[in-house]
Amino acid sequence: MPIIVQKFGGTSVADSKKILTAARKAIRAQMEGNQVVVVVSAMGQNTDLLIDLAKEITESPPAREMDMLLSTGEQVSVALMAMAIHSLGHKAISMTGAQIGIMTDSIHTKARIRSISTDRIRRALDDGNIVIAAGFQGIDEAFNITTLGRGGSDTTAVALAAVLKADSCEIYTDVDGVYTTDPRLMPEARRTGRISYDEMLELASAGAGVMHNRSIEFAKKFGVPVHVRSSFSDNPGTMITCDPEAPGLAVCGAAKAKNEARVTVLGVPDRPGAALTVFSTVAAKNIAMDMIVQNVGAQGHADISFTVLRDDLPATLTAVEEAARQLGAEGVSYDDNVSKISVVGLGMATQTGVAEKMFRSLAERGINILMITTSEIKISVLVARQHAQEALRTVHEAFQLHLTPPGADEIDGGISGLARGNNTAEIVARLERMEALIVEDITLDQSQARVTVIELPDMPGLAAQVFDEIAEAGIVVDMIVQSVGREGHANISFTVSQEDLPEALKVAHELADLLGCPPPTSCPKVAKLSVFGIGMKSHTSVAIRLFQSLAAAGINVDMISTSEVRVNVVVDGQHGQQALEALEKEFADARF
Ligand code: ADP
Ligand code: ASP
Ligand code: MG
Repeated sequence: MPIIVQKFGGTSVADSKKILTAARKAIRAQMEGNQVVVVVSAMGQNTDLLIDLAKEITESPPAREMDMLLSTGEQVSVALMAMAIHSLGHKAISMTGAQIGIMTDSIHTKARIRSISTDRIRRALDDGNIVIAAGFQGIDEAFNITTLGRGGSDTTAVALAAVLKADSCEIYTDVDGVYTTDPRLMPEARRTGRISYDEMLELASAGAGVMHNRSIEFAKKFGVPVHVRSSFSDNPGTMITCDPEAPGLAVCGAAKAKNEARVTVLGVPDRPGAALTVFSTVAAKNIAMDMIVQNVGAQGHADISFTVLRDDLPATLTAVEEAARQLGAEGVSYDDNVSKISVVGLGMATQTGVAEKMFRSLAERGINILMITTSEIKISVLVARQHAQEALRTVHEAFQLHLTPPGADEIDGGISGLARGNNTAEIVARLERMEALIVEDITLDQSQARVTVIELPDMPGLAAQVFDEIAEAGIVVDMIVQSVGREGHANISFTVSQEDLPEALKVAHELADLLGCPPPTSCPKVAKLSVFGIGMKSHTSVAIRLFQSLAAAGINVDMISTSEVRVNVVVDGQHGQQALEALEKEFADARF
């Protein structure tokens, strides 16, 4: 019999009436001939209330006890949901994470799933029950209750769909699908009919809270088609599968991460391993770093900037101040009034001009860009928080995201565009790895050169000007990073193909003259290494391991960009092959 997993989020089970509505959806699916597993979140804002309660008792509650507390929210909902199904005359049984057998590691409040046993669920399903599973929780080896991180019920649902080889995984929520940006922030946002795993992953980690990013890692790894739809209507929703909505679409969505903070370690000695010291002290506290930008060193010193969630700033500063002392760096600066705006799309990997368009649109509104990082399918910029909403609207308009793209095929609520292309043996092998890091490939590109323009006046429109002129010269730019410079200056580095270097340098020199900056620097032959896979960003250790292995080989990292699906680093061209070997060795355990 086909198996369907249905997940109901907090607002979808916020009161008894809504629980009954959800119960009817589950019963309907069962009556249509499916075995049904329902995953539920805590009712309404219950998780937030529990967190507030804990904070009333102590500023820093022990993580183990936090999990004990937070898991109760889901326990309430599963019991009520099972009762609701009983009251409607059908069989149901509720189960906690532990009762299902969701085993996790012991990282409380951010636990990862290690294994799920399906025996108990299957028996209950075969007995004619609708199984109600508590979302967001598991148990570690020592029987401690763990939780998977905020929004983690999505991950429970997709993981269960994967291990049960379910035919579909339906995520019922308070919006009727995945929009081009949060429809609560921008009413003109458009519901997409379909979005690819990679795009959804990037959007989720860039701030689109509609799906927990780790749930999409599961979906991608195991080929689970995910259907996001409304709890309160029968609208068709959005399918998350392998394919994008329309072929070649440069930008499919935009997202805002409102509460970010930028940290800069100033004057770090520019030698292999220095950046590693900074990053590993932060990672040791389980803090995820995002936009990481290292200035190409001037006079033997480099500035390293990165962003973290604003809530993580105090712990981050404690960590980096210590690292800065150890390294003999000049000091640490930060800005906790910044937001990140990102655009995402598979098509930008093969199209030029996407970054320029984004920078130009922001420049036209006088919005200053504080930092830039790009990867193949995502461009992120950091702006002052007060400009974030306008910046989001600006890029949404610039890419005309409110319009249905040509070639988009509307789905009709069924599971079209199925993701299950993978062969079964491969899926079984992947299942054993659950949430473990998977490195699919490591590549070396030796065809590029780097250009760096330093001490640019930090004002709106600069990035746009630089990349407009480069584009006008017919030059295709690959990686771009812009970092906060000193005394109101910005530094921009980018890579171009080696044959375009003379022309790119000419343009850069003209610009530098015009703007009164020092002459640009360049490296005629760089090596770009890319590590692809699943969990590249949610496993905060990836960037660290990468730095570690390159530092151990005595190789300095010039540029880095991280995304959900790949980490790119640029090193001096002469070290390309050696860097590749170092990375192959470092990630041998994760190669799949
Ligand atoms: P649930 O409790 O059902 O898990 P969430 O609050 O976690 O619901 O996720 C749904 C919310 O995600 C929506 O109410 C919406 O405000 C927000 N959201 C953010 N980005 C997007 C997007 N791109 N598309 C749809 N919803 C989004
Ligand atoms: N209840 C948890 C939260 O609010 C998990 C979830 O809803 O997905 O984060
Ligand atoms: Mg959610």
